[in-house]
Amino acid sequence: MTAKRIWNFNAGPAALPLPVLEEIQANLIDFQGSGMSITEISHRSKWFDDVINDAVARVRRLLRVGDDYQVLFLQGGASLQFCMVPMNFLPAGASADYVNTGTWSTKAIKEAQIQGKPIQVVASSEDRNFAYIPKDIAFNADAAYCHITSNNTIKGTQWAAFPDTGGVPLVADMSSDIFCRPLEMTPFGMIYAGAQKNMGPAGVCLAVVRNDLMERAPADLPTMLRYATFAAKNSMFNTPPCFAIYAVQLVLKWVEETVGGLEAMARRNQAKAEMLYSFVDASEFYTGTADTDSRSIMNVTFRLPSEAAEQDFVAQALENDLGGLKGHRSVGGCRASIYNATPIDAIETLVDFMKNFEAKMG
Ligand SMILES: *Cc1c(COP(=O)(O)O)cnc(C)c1O
Repeated sequence: MTAKRIWNFNAGPAALPLPVLEEIQANLIDFQGSGMSITEISHRSKWFDDVINDAVARVRRLLRVGDDYQVLFLQGGASLQFCMVPMNFLPAGASADYVNTGTWSTKAIKEAQIQGKPIQVVASSEDRNFAYIPKDIAFNADAAYCHITSNNTIKGTQWAAFPDTGGVPLVADMSSDIFCRPLEMTPFGMIYAGAQKNMGPAGVCLAVVRNDLMERAPADLPTMLRYATFAAKNSMFNTPPCFAIYAVQLVLKWVEETVGGLEAMARRNQAKAEMLYSFVDASEFYTGTADTDSRSIMNVTFRLPSEAAEQDFVAQALENDLGGLKGHRSVGGCRASIYNATPIDAIETLVDFMKNFEAKMG
C-alpha cells in the first residue's frame, strides 16, 4: 500500500526527508541485525554507541566544529536552554547582552530575568512587530555572552550575517535554521536547536558548546542543569532520547550524502525561498510581512487582503494537499515553513495554488 503524503509546510514539528522516513520504516523492527528495534535497544549498547558517535561526527563535519567545543544531545527542548544558558554562563557579577527579535528571543530574555540575572537588551525590533533584524547594535565589551535568535520562526525574519560583537561570544538559538547554510563557528560560544524544525523529530535538542563557557558554571548548579554533565558522558549521563537521536543521525547523513553538504543545502534553500518571495513580491494580492533585507529563507510569512480570505486560503490549500499554511496564532496571516526537507516541487505546487487562488478571488 502506498502511503498518501501531502506537502507539509508546518513550522514544527515539520517535514522530514522522505528517504529518512523510509529508512526508519525499513529498520524499525530489526535494527542492524540486533533482532530489536532502535526503540528497544539499550543506550549502553554498541548499536546505540555507533548511532550517537556517527551523529556527533556528522555535526562536527558539517559545522567544522573544533576540539574546543562539545557536541551535546539534550532534552527539555530549546526552551530549557533559555534558562540553562544564563545558569551556566553567567556567574555572579557578570552580565549578558540579548537581542530581541521576536517571540522566542522574548522568552529567552524572560528566563534570564526571572533568575535575577543582570542582562541588557541591547537591541529590539519590537517597535515594528519584529518585522526586521536590528542593525548597528552597540554591544557591551564586558558582556559574558550575547544571545540572539538566528531565525525567527514566527515573524519570518533571519540574520543574513551575524553581528560583530567585538569578541564577546555569541550564543544563538538556531532551532529553525540550523544546517540551512554553512556556518562559521568561531564567533559562537554556543549554538542550540530543538530538532523538530530542521533536523529531526521532537524530543531532542542539539547544543554545540565551547569548553571555556561550560567551565563557568557555579558549583551549586544541579547536575542535570549543567552542560558539563552531558559533555563528560557523551550525552548519556542518563537515558538519552535514543530514537530522536537516531532520526537526527539519518537526517544529517541525508544532508551530507544525498544533498551534498551545507553549501548545496544553502543553494537549494535559496532557490526555494526566491521562488516564493519573487511570486509574493510581484503580486498585489499577497503581501510579505518581513522587511526584504531581513526575511527568512525558512519561514515565509505573508498576508492576504482580509482575514476571511486567509481562512479560505488555508482551508482550500489543505483540500489541495498543501498543509500547515496558517500563521502562528500570535500574528495571524499565513506562513509557509520551507525547511531543508521541503523539496522545490512543494514550492512549485504552492505557487501554482497561490496563482489559482488569486485568480479566483482577486
Ligand atoms: C520552536 C522554537 C523554540 C522552542 O523549541 P522547543 O524545542 O519546543 O522548546 C525555540 N526557539 C525557536 C527559534 C523555535 O523556532
